[in-house]
Amino acid sequence: MEHPENNEAYKGLTVNAGIEQPSSVNPYFKRKTRKRQLTVQEFVDGITKGDVTILSQAVTLVESVKPEHQVIAQEVIEKCLPYSGNSIRVGISGVPGAGKSTSIDVFGLHVLERSAGKLAVLAIDPSSERSKGSILGDKTRMEQLSVHADSFIRPSPSAGSLGGVARKTRETIILCEAAGFNKIFVETVGVGQSETAVHSMVDFFLLIQLAGTGDELQGIKRGIMEMADGIVINKADGNNIDKANLAATQFRNALHLFPAPESGWIPKVLTYSGFYNKGVKEIWDMVYEYIDFVKANGYFEYRRNEQSKYWMYESINEKLRDSFYQNPLIESMLAHQEQQVLQGNLTSFVAAKNLLDTYFGELRK
Ligand code: GDP
Repeated sequence: MEHPENNEAYKGLTVNAGIEQPSSVNPYFKRKTRKRQLTVQEFVDGITKGDVTILSQAVTLVESVKPEHQVIAQEVIEKCLPYSGNSIRVGISGVPGAGKSTSIDVFGLHVLERSAGKLAVLAIDPSSERSKGSILGDKTRMEQLSVHADSFIRPSPSAGSLGGVARKTRETIILCEAAGFNKIFVETVGVGQSETAVHSMVDFFLLIQLAGTGDELQGIKRGIMEMADGIVINKADGNNIDKANLAATQFRNALHLFPAPESGWIPKVLTYSGFYNKGVKEIWDMVYEYIDFVKANGYFEYRRNEQSKYWMYESINEKLRDSFYQNPLIESMLAHQEQQVLQGNLTSFVAAKNLLDTYFGELRK
């Protein structure tokens, strides 16, 4: 018998048209865009290993206003606390244009070269929410530092009151320290209240000033000068050097009029140029001399303890305030009571008492 393949009609192996195959990709499958939320322990492990991505995620939780984020953030902070504290924290303040970004860039590189470790640059800028403009600590403002492997730059938390913004920065310090950052800069705009907040979380408060028109000391709030552990006059370069030296003398004279600081340290006044990187080493010699000085006389520990105490009361105040103002009954009464006060129908004190009595009455229910 002939083999069937020898038949003329045999076409050999043919390829069937086949039928359409279903897609191997489940059409109902949606890729989750959001990553799984890490557990508290995963956060803590990541942070203490120095994982900057996890550190950033934890800071985002700290900054979040969502209560469920806050719960996790607080647990993470608590677990990181034993790993924190081992750093020097320096507050850096100056009016816009004083040269903070330029200076922090060179200061940062200097301290990283000077000794081993990592640097975190944080910020407190309560105005940033309103102005959306000057979000301090912005990476683009610190060109060299932002690409340095050992630096972590985080803009100011933007939401909330000064107290709230400052608390978040303080909590971020704890996380950064737990992640091995042993040098912390906290930047703020030198225009008022935010200095007090920064002062309450740093070991050394550095005030950047400019030599101006001869009236340097005017417009600088006495309170801010009193907080400073060091005053540095920037832009001492070109034909500005004499003016900067004159300003330094004026500041030194003014500081003599203040009572001796609790630390026993007499604040120094130096001139420098951030842009030309002149006099930067001397500034950091001063900071490290101060740290040695206050560690030796016990003030370093004392100041940190006082700060912890301050933040305990700050946290209580913040929670109480939120609880009061977020109470639905209070929210519904507030505008009316305010109106009554404005119209002269109620005194401020009676209106306050009405609201507080209502609030405490609610709590008892
Ligand atoms: P910030 O607003 O305090 O952060 O100030 P910037 O760092 O942005 O500096 C404001 C302006 O001052 C910029 O044009 C800088 O180039 C300039 N500047 C900063 N430091 C110096 C300095 O040491 N000397 C001179 N001549 N200009 C400087």
